Amino acid sequence: MKIAVLSGKGGTGKTTVSTNLAYAMGIDYVDFDVEEPNGHIFLKPRDLKESDVNIMTPVIDQDRCTLCNICVETCQFNALVNTGKRILVFEDLCHGCGACSLACPEKAISEYPRKIGVLFEGTYEKADFFSGRMALNEPMAGPIISEIKRRIPKGRDHIVDCSPGTSCNVVKGVDGADYAIMVTEPSVFGLHDLKLAVELVEEMDIPMGIIINRSNEYDPLIEDYAKDSNLRILGKIPFSKAAAKIYSEGKLLIEEPAIKEIFEGIKKQVLEEVDHAISHS
Ligand code: SF4
Ligand code: SF4
Repeated sequence: MKIAVLSGKGGTGKTTVSTNLAYAMGIDYVDFDVEEPNGHIFLKPRDLKESDVNIMTPVIDQDRCTLCNICVETCQFNALVNTGKRILVFEDLCHGCGACSLACPEKAISEYPRKIGVLFEGTYEKADFFSGRMALNEPMAGPIISEIKRRIPKGRDHIVDCSPGTSCNVVKGVDGADYAIMVTEPSVFGLHDLKLAVELVEEMDIPMGIIINRSNEYDPLIEDYAKDSNLRILGKIPFSKAAAKIYSEGKLLIEEPAIKEIFEGIKKQVLEEVDHAISHS
């Protein structure tokens, strides 16, 4: 079982929902928000192993290079430029696909491993924990997310805390999920971003439900939209001082009995939805 948790933007409570729900369900937690990972703050993983994530980046042997331009034309990411005197490599744009070195007729391109981030693997309670972090000034999250994805053991139930927004990195998180949970807040901006995220998940044909964070108990903006869109509201996390205090202390909200009950309800509904989704797939 794979459950993807996403929101149309950052700061809506996606990690709060992901960590608390993973804990309540006793399943693996995977943090794909490699720009600003913070699941570890709440789950406090043990025995963390850190490893580098590298991509192979080209180096041009200018003595061998005939400036034929084939590598420049091959690169889909505009990472190579022919100045007329030499070939320049813009490393920030290079995705490490290796196409240029394969295409070079003079064998003038070698590659070196460039560190773009790190990956963390550990455990919390009785489940596994995975996350990653982009290196400073490195703009590429995609290869780190792909590497985390490769490390998740096949057949393990897990919750993916997706990157915020609706970018291709979010698609990587949602891809292959049995169910998606959309986290939103009851405001006009929250609704706007929720709609974008719902459109994305609909495109991917994955069943989904909504959790309202910082709920006012009655949230007509989101509730009317959910009803019109035929989407189930899985639960509401109240806007409360107690919740804000627990969060600011880096603790799980389910330490508060009233919120634990809410997450037990969410867990029950999510399991029903996932069972239904799997039996109809
Ligand atoms: S393909 Fe090889 S020889 Fe041609 S411009 Fe690129 S590095 Fe130089
Ligand atoms: S490895 Fe791929 S992305 Fe990087 S410069 Fe070569 S062709 Fe472009």
